[in-house]
Amino acid sequence: MRAMVYRGPYKIRVEEKPKPRVEHPNDAIIRVVMGAVCGSDLHLYHGMMPDTRVGTTFGHEFIGVVDEVGPSVQNLKPGDRVMVPFNVFCGSCYFCARGLYGNCHNVNANATAAGGMYGYSHTAGGYDGGQAEYVRVPFADVGPMVIPDWLDDEDAVMLTDALPTGYFGAQLGSIAEGDAVVVLGAGPVGLFAARSAWLMGAGRVIVVDHLDYRLEMARTFAHAETVNFAEHDDVVVHLKRTTDHLGADVVIDAVGAEADGNFLQHVTAAKLKLQGGSPIALNWAIDAVRKGGTVSVMGAYGPMFSAVKFGDAFNKGLTLRMNQCPVRRQWPRLLEHIQAGHFKPNDIVTHRIPLEHVGEAYHLFSAKLDNIVKPLIVMDPA
Ligand SMILES: [Zn+2]
Ligand SMILES: [Zn+2]
Repeated sequence: MRAMVYRGPYKIRVEEKPKPRVEHPNDAIIRVVMGAVCGSDLHLYHGMMPDTRVGTTFGHEFIGVVDEVGPSVQNLKPGDRVMVPFNVFCGSCYFCARGLYGNCHNVNANATAAGGMYGYSHTAGGYDGGQAEYVRVPFADVGPMVIPDWLDDEDAVMLTDALPTGYFGAQLGSIAEGDAVVVLGAGPVGLFAARSAWLMGAGRVIVVDHLDYRLEMARTFAHAETVNFAEHDDVVVHLKRTTDHLGADVVIDAVGAEADGNFLQHVTAAKLKLQGGSPIALNWAIDAVRKGGTVSVMGAYGPMFSAVKFGDAFNKGLTLRMNQCPVRRQWPRLLEHIQAGHFKPNDIVTHRIPLEHVGEAYHLFSAKLDNIVKPLIVMDPA
């Protein structure tokens, strides 16, 4: 089969690979119909994620058609059109029993903290991902769901990570009616978090980024106020000014560890005197939220970070909430929202790129070229 293959930082190829096969009675093999590249895939692409091995296939956002099932799979059959959550999870351990699918105890022998994820390095379990013609899906009875007939492929792909993660970010903010909500980052997760904040009763939603084309989408898609942090000497001071000098009730960090590479590192080195490797967006969140407020972290962080302003978080009495989104748990409510017209998830899709050109998707996305917000990977019809 054809598959995206990692050959080292900034090196993405499309190569022939053996088609995955059923290795366990609970496995399903999915023929991928459509996938997406995620902002968090760029951490892998940049070589920032520990134990990202040459030869592996990325891709944790994909939908497809069931090609084959193991002998104990009961809920799926060949031919079913399914969406697959980015979490690999068993459905029956202590954590899964509590709906903490991102924290499953049975799917990642390589780490005690991170759960299992498709195509996200051996730090996340070493599962090959869905930027390929076929992918093996373990625990096939508990993760995938047959896509309702009325739901488009592109909207279903958005349900495998970006939309549920954004929605979860707003949920973890514990937004109360009338709250001022700041969202750091106008990528797909930030846009969905901003849009979701309204559904939860926010009185104001303010999205912060430095890419004007993305801020434009924050205004049109998420109906948010926007702040370009590059236009302010100190974006935290600006955010305080616009929130009665108290700070926002809720700040959602939809940026994550790497922020936007050089530009943010440069800005913060010059302006905020933070050391390299410190989580800039998270510190902005801690500074920009009011005392007693909530910081919800949806940006992806690896295990090691330094210089979090933890003392400030303590003295301000903040609530810090974060996790990998348990995607499957979000689907029933999100399907209701989509059916009711509260979301048209593929409104944020800007690029549709064939698998053979997946390297171009990574390049455009990494360099933020061509006004890219969300690239889909489409399979050539067989
Ligand atoms: Zn993702
Ligand atoms: Zn589990």
